[in-house]
Order: sequence, then structure tokens, then C-alpha cells
Amino acid sequence: VSFDQMELKDDLLRGIYNYGFEKPSAIQQRAVMPIISGRDVIAQAQSGTGKTSMIALTVCQIVDTSSREVQALILSPTRELASQTEKTILTIGSFMNIQAHACIGGKSLGEDIRKLEHGVHVVSGTPGRVCDMIKRRTLRTRAIKLLVLDESDEMLSRGFKDQIYDVYRYLPPELQVVLVSATLPNEILEITSKFMTDPVRILV
Ligand code: AMP
Repeated sequence: VSFDQMELKDDLLRGIYNYGFEKPSAIQQRAVMPIISGRDVIAQAQSGTGKTSMIALTVCQIVDTSSREVQALILSPTRELASQTEKTILTIGSFMNIQAHACIGGKSLGEDIRKLEHGVHVVSGTPGRVCDMIKRRTLRTRAIKLLVLDESDEMLSRGFKDQIYDVYRYLPPELQVVLVSATLPNEILEITSKFMTDPVRILV
């Protein structure tokens, strides 16, 4: 399939081509359609496969920019990856007025609070900071419909398991979950069975 055949929003398609992408990578070929049709997806993929852009473009497709509420939450193991994902969303979504914010440690809380109060569609963050913002009720979760767990094995090996479960408890019950991981050890399978319903499995 080509990007044209994915039935994406016109403004999103423009952003993808403007970014310089001509055709979808293998993971994009296989994961985009199930995710935008609302399925839970387990994608076993390494970085360098186009997974960040896959996450960015599905998030851009799913978000309703006429609402000012947070609708998608992406958790990443590092500040760098969380910022990279935020930047990719802003670039691919540059023609569609999407507001994204990176909630990461080491930045001022005041900036997070200002951005979130102003209204953002997407939050990309590290589990500790995101958990904190939710508990402070600065990050409102009621309109979140998509949770992406990126580099899940890496998040677990960095000790974020409890925070991931904590965040999940604050999210609405009707939640779509996408899990990306290079490996699928038992602790990841535990997450998939607790958080996901009839997931599509993709190995690239
Ligand atoms: P990622 O695995 O998402 O970190 O992507 C690795 C690199 O591939 C990044 O530099 C992306 O900009 C690039 N990339 C991702 N998807 C595509 C695509 N469909 N066509 C060309 N380059 C891509």
C-alpha cells in the first residue's frame, strides 16, 4: 500500500510528503491501517524501522483538532525519545494545526502547566513526569482515547513498570492501546493481556 491508499486526512498526507517520505516503511505498511481502524496493536520493531513516524502519523489521523482536549498519550523510556516523537508529530502534522507537548523530567513544571492549560491534543512523555502531571490534575485524562507504549521493553528495564500501571489506571476504560517493543518478555506479555483487547500482532 501507498500513503495515498491509507485514507488519511488530506492535511496529514501533505505533511507526510512534505517531510520527504515517498512510501511507507514495512512497519508503516502493516501497522497504520489496523491502528486507525481502532484495533489494539502489538508491534515488535526496533528503532530505525520508521516506528516513530508510524506513531506520529496514526496519532495525527486519530486526533480531532476541533477539540482542545488531550486525546492521545505516548509514553517513552527517555526524554530524548519523547521529544523526538513530539517533534515528529509537529512536523508531520504541520498542516493540520495539531498541538503536541512533551512532558519530560528536567523541564520546568510551569511550562508544562501553561502548555496543558492552553490545550494540547497529544502528550508525549516519560512515565514519571506524565504520572506526576496526571496526579496534579494538570494533565486531564478523560478524553484520551489512544495510549501508545513506545520501546516498552526499555521502559521496563528502566524501572517504569509501576508508573505505567499507575498511568493506565487513570485512563478511560474505552481505550485503544498500541505497544511497540523490540522484544516481548513475560512482563510485556503481562501488560498486553491486562491493557489490550484482541490485539493485532506485527513483527517487522
Ligand atoms: P524511526 O524508526 O521512526 O526512528 O525512523 C528512522 C528514520 O527513518 C528516521 O530518520 C525517519 O525520518 C525515517 N523514515 C521513517 N519512515 C520513513 C518513510 N516512510 N520514508 C522515508 N524515511 C522514513
